[in-house]
Amino acid sequence: MILDQISFLTAIGFSSAALTVTLLVSWMVSRKDSYLLSWSIGMALVVAGVIAYSMLDQYVPAVQFMSFALLMAGFTFIYGGAVQFRTGTVSIPKVFSLGSATIGLTSSIFALGYSGIATAAANFGIAQLLGLSAFEYWAGRKEAALPLTLTVALYALTALSFVLCGLVLLIDGQYVLTARPENWAEDINSIMAIVGLTGIGALSLTLNHSRAARQHRSEAMTDALTGLLNRRALFDAHGSGRLAPGTAIIMFDLDHFKDINDRLGHAVGDCVLQDFAGLIRDGIRPADAAARLGGEEFCVVLTHLPQRSAAAVAERIRAAQELAGIAISSTVSAGVAISGVDGDSFEALLRDADEALYKAKSNGRNRVHAPGPRLVA
Ligand code: GH3
Ligand code: MG
Ligand code: MG
Repeated sequence: MILDQISFLTAIGFSSAALTVTLLVSWMVSRKDSYLLSWSIGMALVVAGVIAYSMLDQYVPAVQFMSFALLMAGFTFIYGGAVQFRTGTVSIPKVFSLGSATIGLTSSIFALGYSGIATAAANFGIAQLLGLSAFEYWAGRKEAALPLTLTVALYALTALSFVLCGLVLLIDGQYVLTARPENWAEDINSIMAIVGLTGIGALSLTLNHSRAARQHRSEAMTDALTGLLNRRALFDAHGSGRLAPGTAIIMFDLDHFKDINDRLGHAVGDCVLQDFAGLIRDGIRPADAAARLGGEEFCVVLTHLPQRSAAAVAERIRAAQELAGIAISSTVSAGVAISGVDGDSFEALLRDADEALYKAKSNGRNRVHAPGPRLVA
């Protein structure tokens, strides 16, 4: 062993303390991410546990139990944080009873005087909490495959190192301890604790940042009122290049919408916009794109549909709006344009759909206008 156990414990204590502060500061700048607070509290308890454990030069079972109780409480918080990270919420009674069962079992064995068996039980308890945390990240690995798989590996290896500590004590028949256990498994565990905790800490912060960045990107692409795509997102997705032949654009514009605002107020107008967005969502397939271009104008892009069926989609949505808006006379007009055999540019097809919409308006509103495909690009 290059370093003695106390040096290792000091290193673990300092690196965990730095992590505690980093996680706490991260939580303070983004308080809705409450898993950061759980991790920070968990880490603080781990630091306290490590400090207590390093005071075991004079072996006192009660102090050893204290240090394990703090470690188990810390890893319970860290597990709770993992659940919060994946699901957005955590059942506090469930996690609390898991932590207290683990601590309770260990304390009973300590109380019986079998400090070695109790130490093994504490190691297994911690391994279980780490294993459960690993499982949470494994279950949510789709979000960011590489950092989450690495996190799982670190949790699993750290858990394994705790299992080894417990097994070595039992295999060596050390049922009652007279000193802090020192063996090869403890050495591996110390190294794994440093690698695991700092690695997990760094990865957790990376995951938190990438989640925040993804959320900002998605907010920048979403229309805040309706939750549909916004104009920018639609143009980003389709604005350059040619659309595949058969791609259809439907432009919707609510009829006399200004009157609804004037008669019933802006708030009711907003609700009409939200309800209409819901009708669009119900009327298209998940692969299709729907956006609010601004005001009371909406655009839907349907891929690979024959012209009649694009017109049918528009008509279904129009009829649904007529029915939904009957009490306040809210209707919608729609214009359909289909990309020709050579494929059209998005802007050209949008212009055609807009012209078709204008025809629907001038023909009396509350209708769909769907001319044939473009003959000239
Ligand atoms: P037309 O049948 O010719 O389309 O008539 P219109 O009244 O629907 O069209 P116009 O372009 O004259 O009016 C659109 C109105 O939409 C005016 C504007 O106040 C309103 N509007 C734009 N954005 C919002 C919004 O976010 N919420 C609400 N409630 N109203 C909005
Ligand atoms: Mg308009
Ligand atoms: Mg309008």
